[in-house]
Amino acid sequence: FSFSDGAEALACIQQDDSVRVLITSAELPTMSGVELCVQTRAFLDNRRPLYIIMMSSNNDYTKCVQALDNGADDFIRKPPVAEELCARLRTADRVTSMQCELVRLATIDFLTGLSNRRAFFEDAAKLIELAQSGHPVSAIMIDLDHFKQINDVHGHDIGDAVLKRIATEIAPLPGIAGRLGGEEFVLLLEGDLFDAVEIAQGLRYSAESLKIFAGERAINVTCSIGVAEWETGDTIDTLLRRADVALYEAKRTGRNKVAVAD
Ligand code: GH3
Ligand code: MG
Ligand code: MG
Repeated sequence: FSFSDGAEALACIQQDDSVRVLITSAELPTMSGVELCVQTRAFLDNRRPLYIIMMSSNNDYTKCVQALDNGADDFIRKPPVAEELCARLRTADRVTSMQCELVRLATIDFLTGLSNRRAFFEDAAKLIELAQSGHPVSAIMIDLDHFKQINDVHGHDIGDAVLKRIATEIAPLPGIAGRLGGEEFVLLLEGDLFDAVEIAQGLRYSAESLKIFAGERAINVTCSIGVAEWETGDTIDTLLRRADVALYEAKRTGRNKVAVAD
């Protein structure tokens, strides 16, 4: 995409996640190139790689230093030589590809492909904002029943396969899902307790109905689930704690059931 104005370029970066390189002139009509760098960096979170190349016809090295200090990754003279620009774009591709891979490794749980604990809490922040502005938001905590026994009887690989299958059931559900650790999953969604219980019951039923085999032997997989709805004054921690208390209640009263926080 090309733009004659910094604000338009910024809007494009904000709307399109796939943009990975910004080439900007230092001298722009409304906002300066440096200002565009600053505003772009302020908008981007640490999960979004963007390589910024600043161009200037000015031979003054202080311009280059100023650009780099304000968020540019590279600096070239204007007008750019095609070959040089292409080489710098190859560098941009190399660097942002590596950043994308690092972000993936840091946020995705390797076994299940769900968000890991850290990424879940980061993603959850958006829904928590929604909750704080009065929208109903609920949390569903899921823990596999007697999972240690599945490992002990069928082996760790089968245990891993079970975790993947459960994650496959959770991933398409509405909301923000994550693997909090071990055999414990979470789903945070827009909706009240009634909506959340319905989804939790559906999940409980699909876990119970899974056909997973270890050789000829079918494995029984069930999970216990705790559900809680956001209340005024909650934080993500207190909400999840109440869902966890409900989950413990589901375990205590027989497992393979959904319990609701009171
Ligand atoms: P409960 O019904 O009370 O939840 O019992 P449980 O056996 O499911 O719970 P417990 O906490 O005793 O055991 C969880 C087991 O999960 C122990 C651990 O070895 C296993 N586990 C944790 N992470 C993984 C993993 O990535 N892969 C496999 N295969 N097992 C895992
Ligand atoms: Mg368990
Ligand atoms: Mg557990």
